[in-house]
Amino acid sequence: MYVILLGPPGAGKGTQAVQTAERTGLLHLSTGDMFRENLRNGTELGNLAKTYMDKGELVPDDVTIRMLLERIGRDDANVGCLFDGFPRTVEQAKALDIALKEQGNEIAVTVLIDVSNEEITRRLGGRVSCATCGSVFHEIFNPPDANRPCCGTVKMIQRDDDKPEAIANRLQVYADQTEPLVAYYTQAGKLKTVNGEQSPEAVGVDLLSALQESSN
Ligand code: ADP
Ligand code: ADP
Ligand code: ZN
Repeated sequence: MYVILLGPPGAGKGTQAVQTAERTGLLHLSTGDMFRENLRNGTELGNLAKTYMDKGELVPDDVTIRMLLERIGRDDANVGCLFDGFPRTVEQAKALDIALKEQGNEIAVTVLIDVSNEEITRRLGGRVSCATCGSVFHEIFNPPDANRPCCGTVKMIQRDDDKPEAIANRLQVYADQTEPLVAYYTQAGKLKTVNGEQSPEAVGVDLLSALQESSN
């Protein structure tokens, strides 16, 4: 099964993808995580991606599509994938459709995690992640447990693109380039929407039932 999690930055895609991948056995693929891993490893791709990420712009389609298609072509992706942060443009969505079709597969469902701009600003402003493993927390909504620190350390870092200047631009980029995917997947009869402004547990329950309905 191939599933897309769609929604603005900060909607909770990553948080939901980690839990849902554990429950369903799908492979969690986040293009944002892939770019950040490339950056940590100092690859050419990572350095190129950083120039866009820092400004809150999208990494160009050709580079992003090539990276993602290479990844879904590997054997461990045969179990099915949960896409988080990809596709982000209609161009990417079309490339994914074609590549899956060549493998005899298709997108089962795209789940839109619906969250208001006010809530997104609150979520991104407080987002922090473990300096060691990258696990995501929120300073207020989901604080790291001081008694059982992640990776044995309390060191939490904020992403450069979660600073206020970058957040506004990312929301505009989402509206301009990614939101058209709502119409794209609606037309394909593949869009389901869940209310993202609930507890992470409640969003997870709704997400899982959306996947179950679509797997029948
Ligand atoms: P968020 O979780 O806030 O939505 P991500 O971690 O998914 O952010 O992405 C961080 C940044 O990486 C994006 O702002 C963009 O610069 C780049 N990026 C990630 N996925 C894509 C994609 N599919 N197409 C283009 N750029 C992307
Ligand atoms: P995305 O991958 O869509 O950018 P994240 O999963 O990184 O979003 O979540 C953004 C921030 O909001 C994180 O700090 C996360 O801990 C927090 N968060 C995620 N889901 C919820 C929720 N349902 N309620 C409150 N905060 C949440
Ligand atoms: Zn950790």
